[in-house]
Amino acid sequence: DKTLHIVGGGMAGSEAAWQAAQAGLDVVIHEMRPKVETFAHQTGKLAEMVCSNSFRSDDSEQNAVGLLHWEMREAGSLIMASADKHRLPAGGALAVDREPFSQYVTDTLRALPNVTVVDEEITALPTDGHWLFTTGPLTSPALGQAIQDISGADRLAFFDAIAPIVYAESIDMDVVWAQSRYDKGETEDERKAYLNCPMNKDQYEAFIDALLAADKTEFHEGETAGYFDGCLPIEVMAERGRETLRHGPMKPIGLTNAHKPEEKAYAVVQLRRDNALGTLYNIVGFQTKMKYGAQKEVFAMIPGLENASFARLGGIHRNTFMNSPTLLDGEMRLRARPNIRFAGQVTGVEGYVESAAMGLLAARFAIAELAGETLPPVPETTAMGALVTHISGGAEAKTFQPMNVNFGLFPPVDLKGGRKNRPARYKAYTDRAKEAWGNWLAAQSVEVA
Ligand code: FAD
Repeated sequence: DKTLHIVGGGMAGSEAAWQAAQAGLDVVIHEMRPKVETFAHQTGKLAEMVCSNSFRSDDSEQNAVGLLHWEMREAGSLIMASADKHRLPAGGALAVDREPFSQYVTDTLRALPNVTVVDEEITALPTDGHWLFTTGPLTSPALGQAIQDISGADRLAFFDAIAPIVYAESIDMDVVWAQSRYDKGETEDERKAYLNCPMNKDQYEAFIDALLAADKTEFHEGETAGYFDGCLPIEVMAERGRETLRHGPMKPIGLTNAHKPEEKAYAVVQLRRDNALGTLYNIVGFQTKMKYGAQKEVFAMIPGLENASFARLGGIHRNTFMNSPTLLDGEMRLRARPNIRFAGQVTGVEGYVESAAMGLLAARFAIAELAGETLPPVPETTAMGALVTHISGGAEAKTFQPMNVNFGLFPPVDLKGGRKNRPARYKAYTDRAKEAWGNWLAAQSVEVA
């Protein structure tokens, strides 16, 4: 049976349907809208953009999401074709006229003879046939339950409590030192798993004042339910008492400043390695509803992070996503039920473009599988490969949080020179990626015309 069933006709599902149909498969899209609604979608159209109308930077030489655009276009992406067709002026960004964008995707897919769209909610994980689930950040509750039943209740999160993520290269190591609390750990690596930023009393008091005064986003109604235990935003902790953070995520005990062993820190901000490459660190326990501008100002007050650059800032949103590093294999199959793939935001990538990109990739894997072939692994040096590696095992499973594409996910290029050399470094990343992606596409025997 050469039918691919796709559940969810959003960004990922629409792209996957296009790719599979172009390769000659029969495709059935099961989309619950407009019968069953979500709080964010407004229409029954495929590939609806729920919020901003931006695909972000279109610079394929200097920007990781721009590179992802490029890779998708090379692979004949429908989402990119529609975005390009309905582009609005926005400087270096790819802004999209949302209505005609999703109308074009809807019309194009519905017009294909081998694509059928069925208006229905799927609430179980089928044991037969070839399935791809792309149900997104607002996966329906019944299906969420089915995913939990097969994977474990702790493997599906409903909120994205994001601690800010910092590029390792931008941390001031003359101030910060590596040490796990009480030097815990079996190996030297584990005993130095955390980076520590020390604060004296004055710095701590000024930091608390800044947190209390910072501009924050309010929660939507109903958004806080079921989330508040264990992951309070830092500013809420600060509101509960000026000492709360110093007894919580900022406690200084069990740590000795390697640069100034005689100075006892009054508080310590800890960073934990966020990827296997060691290029990204997250600020432990620092989920926050502060606005992005305020976050940058407040976090620059942390000793050692004065010049930090962020791979992503903190936040807290409604977002259903799986613990993909433990649940999916490198071809995005559910380990526990390999006839089912997952792609899109529900797998822990973040954003329209990233979600559509993972839909494209999942479809390519399914196409090859139905032709009795196995694709070579996607090169980690491409934006596609960096993302799929991240969700299928590159990220730390315990602290797994949704991720935008960024150069911190790529194996580092061998070009030193710090900030000044950044344009050359980014160009090296994107040149390397383009060549690898071209080769990977060329190696596929099934034509996706
Ligand atoms: P979606 O595009 O959401 O598609 C999933 C589809 O699955 C939906 O059509 C849904 O109706 C359907 N579905 C769900 N459950 C079932 C089921 N059981 N049976 C059948 N169909 C089902 N990203 C950005 O890049 N920029 C933004 O500004 C932005 N703002 C956002 C604001 C909000 C409030 C939310 C919730 C998300 C936002 N996102 C934003 C993330 C955005 O949703 C994703 O980037 C993108 O839409 C994810 O694509 P997807 O295909 O994974 O999911």
